[in-house]
Amino acid sequence: MKLLLTTSRGIEDLAKKEVEGLIKRAGLKGKVEEKPLGVEGRIWAEIEESYYFNRKGKKREFEIASFLNENSRLLHRVILHISSTKLPSLEKEKALNEIYNFVFNSPIENYVKISENFAVRSFRKGEHEFTSVDIAKTAGSAIYDKLSKFGMPKVNLDHPSVIFRTELIDDVFFLGIDTTGDSSLHKRPWRVYDHPAHLKASIANAMIELAELDGGSVLDPMCGSGTILIELALREYDGKIIGIEKYEKHLRGAKMNALAAGVSNKIEFIHGDATKLSKYIESVDFVLSNLPYGLKIGRKSLIPELYMKFFNELSKVLEKRGVFLTTEKRTIEKAFEENGFKILHHRLVGHGGLMVHLYIVK
Ligand code: SAM
Repeated sequence: MKLLLTTSRGIEDLAKKEVEGLIKRAGLKGKVEEKPLGVEGRIWAEIEESYYFNRKGKKREFEIASFLNENSRLLHRVILHISSTKLPSLEKEKALNEIYNFVFNSPIENYVKISENFAVRSFRKGEHEFTSVDIAKTAGSAIYDKLSKFGMPKVNLDHPSVIFRTELIDDVFFLGIDTTGDSSLHKRPWRVYDHPAHLKASIANAMIELAELDGGSVLDPMCGSGTILIELALREYDGKIIGIEKYEKHLRGAKMNALAAGVSNKIEFIHGDATKLSKYIESVDFVLSNLPYGLKIGRKSLIPELYMKFFNELSKVLEKRGVFLTTEKRTIEKAFEENGFKILHHRLVGHGGLMVHLYIVK
């Protein structure tokens, strides 16, 4: 069985490692490839099929897709891969014709029973003369026409039993069955307070992986709605977990989220100002934070002073490593340099349409 897995751009290597670990945990063998056909934010996993006998002695297939949906922290979607191709032309009529023929000739009848209703959800990224709605309509017609050979197909756009998913990223076209459903896995059920600039939970977990935590104390000094801290607590982290947030509204939201996640007793939340960090904390082993960028909230002109003051304070208390996310490359690098921090690692990560800079420093 082949799965097409989606995640954020820039963390494919970490997602690949996670998937390899989960395949192993399930006792299966598989091959995992990052950026199939050169597509960022995507992973292919070819996994052996496996069966078990249930309590009634019936042979059942082990559902690796469900296992990944339930256990992954870094993936956004788990899609059963049906077929993929590179479109020879991106000119509207030619491309949509090609999509129709490609979908029609794919073995879709193996993935949906004629008695089941279906819908097509479509994702598109890149420069195209047509929309994702055009693709969904075209693929939907091809599936309908193909299934008509076997009976009367049923379409249900609102609550389908089977979701076909098409993805067109530049000229690469994927067709599959979306086993995740309409809500991406990074939208966590614990998020009852929606911070205007919250971090995707998948990226929070990538930061946690990159920090290589050793059980020492962890702080997010500008924790917003608490994403990093809550995801860390959900991983049953043993060390102390602390969050600081300047605005009471967000701090209250973080506490509500932690409560909804069932981890409020594992996180200490402080109402405070990160530019006065040493007032609240004498020392901390790890600091993980998605810093304010001054785009969605606050003013951009205030960012240089905020970063400079914060990293000056951090230099007094940080023992081991820090992992930071920001769009403000020059500002943060200046603050690192002037406050004696050394960059150990840098990468770009896709977050909400932006490429943000991720740094590990000590
Ligand atoms: N990672 C968070 C989440 O997922 O909700 C979002 C963090 S948001 C990008 C940055 C946060 O820093 C905002 O909630 C903002 O109120 C807070 N902040 C800004 N200046 C601060 C300061 N001086 N001290 C503490 N928090 C501050």
